[in-house]
Amino acid sequence: MNSPVEAIKSEKRMLLLKYLKENHRRYETLFSCNEDSIFVLDIEGHVIQSNPAFLQLTGFSPVEADKLKLQFLFPIDHINKVFHHFSNAVLGRFPNFDTKIITKIGQVLDLNISFIPICEDDQIVGVSAVGKDITELKRKKEEIRKVEEMQRVLTDNIVDVIVSTNLQGEIVYVSPSCEYILGYDPNEVLNQNFLSFVHPDDVENAFHNRRRVLDGQENGRDSYRVRKNSGEYMWVESLCKPIIAHDTLHVLEVVSVIRDITERKKVEEEAKRREETYRDLVEYSPDAVIIAKDAEILFINETGAKLFGASDKRDILNKTMTDIIHPDYHEISKERQQIETSGNVTEFIEYKLLRLDGSQFVAEVKGIPTIYQNNRARHIIIRDITERKKTQELLLNSEKLNVAGQLAVGIAHEVRNPLTAIKGFLQLMESEEDRNRPYFEIIQSEMDRIELILSELLVLAKPHELKFEAVDLITLLDNVKTLIDTQAIINGIQIETRYNYHNFIINCDPNQLKQVFINILKNAIEAMPEGGKITIEVKQYGFNMVKVFFQDTGKGMPQEILKRVGEPFFTTKEDGTGLGVMISKQIIENHGGTLNIWSDKQGTLIEVILPKASKRLH
Ligand code: ADP
Ligand code: MG
Repeated sequence: MNSPVEAIKSEKRMLLLKYLKENHRRYETLFSCNEDSIFVLDIEGHVIQSNPAFLQLTGFSPVEADKLKLQFLFPIDHINKVFHHFSNAVLGRFPNFDTKIITKIGQVLDLNISFIPICEDDQIVGVSAVGKDITELKRKKEEIRKVEEMQRVLTDNIVDVIVSTNLQGEIVYVSPSCEYILGYDPNEVLNQNFLSFVHPDDVENAFHNRRRVLDGQENGRDSYRVRKNSGEYMWVESLCKPIIAHDTLHVLEVVSVIRDITERKKVEEEAKRREETYRDLVEYSPDAVIIAKDAEILFINETGAKLFGASDKRDILNKTMTDIIHPDYHEISKERQQIETSGNVTEFIEYKLLRLDGSQFVAEVKGIPTIYQNNRARHIIIRDITERKKTQELLLNSEKLNVAGQLAVGIAHEVRNPLTAIKGFLQLMESEEDRNRPYFEIIQSEMDRIELILSELLVLAKPHELKFEAVDLITLLDNVKTLIDTQAIINGIQIETRYNYHNFIINCDPNQLKQVFINILKNAIEAMPEGGKITIEVKQYGFNMVKVFFQDTGKGMPQEILKRVGEPFFTTKEDGTGLGVMISKQIIENHGGTLNIWSDKQGTLIEVILPKASKRLH
């Protein structure tokens, strides 16, 4: 019943069995004691024989093994490959390949298989399969590959550069990332001292950090600038670790992990700069700034502390908003506090505020919602408007004065005209009436005085029309003295002059200069209600200057008044204008000179420095 094909197959099988029988003894030892799994297949793929190693590996009993077929031994996705190699072996080739095998209990093992054709009577009658268990080998290989891969990842692709230096600081290894991060070919930097790449300003720092590592400190973290191949410097953070010999415990090398922190530094610096700018802005703001949470004061700037009269900021920080706001404004400030706390800005309005000493002042206040130390808070701007109010008043005052000045000019003109007429007639009468001569002389001199005063008044009204001419300073001072002497004598004041040199020609507007000296002398007289002495002294100063001193024995001025003298409208007198010193200073400065004041309880000294006229001018 057997087909011809079947007949050939069984004939081959007979030959195979014969072969095995004959050869069995020949390499029985080799076969049964081999560590490799060996199994013999007929050309149909039936397992005919198997060695103990095979049985152990697969877990089959000898009886079970004898019933095995090739396709039972391999996972489904490997069968094709296995049959391909098997048919090659049947054709007389010796294939070797890696595959997987399934054990009796379903375990999958890695196996390297060599198929060896078996020849009998010039025919291939079967195939010997020698299998090596490579599961362990494969696992190890995989492990090594993983480690290698990890190392590669660590050294190639990371954003850090790993540098190893010897004890002399020479670079003995650098990771390939060096090229990407610093722009150097790793070979280029080998054997160079690592310090030669560090920014000159940071070398000392880097050197000491390394020293600490070498001295046995576990590792050192530091940041410095390193030079890139492009010449640019880059901020890096370096983490150093010594490599220590196991036997001698000596440091062999220092390994550093270097990371680009340029961006971080930039961000840090930018943030620092911004914070400083903000702090400076707030701290030195001309406006007072308070940061408050509800009524609690969390912060106040310098201007604010000054405004509230606190020498120490803490004095204000201990207070609440209610303490520094006048009771009249508590209600409105509470309303505004609510608006600000709910996230809205309130505009500037005038508040009456209280200083630490209880005194009041008026300020404009605005509130802006803000975040302070991670909490909702209010940024309160307090603008002191005392000065502004004062300026407004001053403007008003000077406007009034302007009007008064204009009136004075008008009056001066009006009085002068009849005065001229009176003077003329007086001269006529004088020539005729001899017996009344002494009275005429008095009238004459009084008239001269009225005339002089009127002209001074006119000078005041026209300060801008400067008429410069060469004038002898001493003569001018004597004229002023004459003018003021009567008033001085009435007040029991003696005016003494000390001129040690008489030819001081100066280039000036004499009327204006007279105005200055009159102002100074009048102030001196007014400072000595109980009488005293004024000394006028003129001295050469340097090569081309002259100094005029006016010293009085009056009551002088305390520091706080002295500081303010010369401010427009600053006066301590009931009927004073507070303009004298200011105008005098202005006139002297217009003449290229300076006016200085010293004062104490013994009296006041005014110094006027003026340039002498250059030759060309006289
Ligand atoms: P006024 O004389 O109208 O007050 P001034 O500008 O001339 O204005 O002077 C301003 C203030 O300076 C005076 O009110 C006075 O307090 C002070 N002062 C000026 N000169 C003297 C002085 N010689 N001695 C003391 N105080 C003086
Ligand atoms: Mg005065």
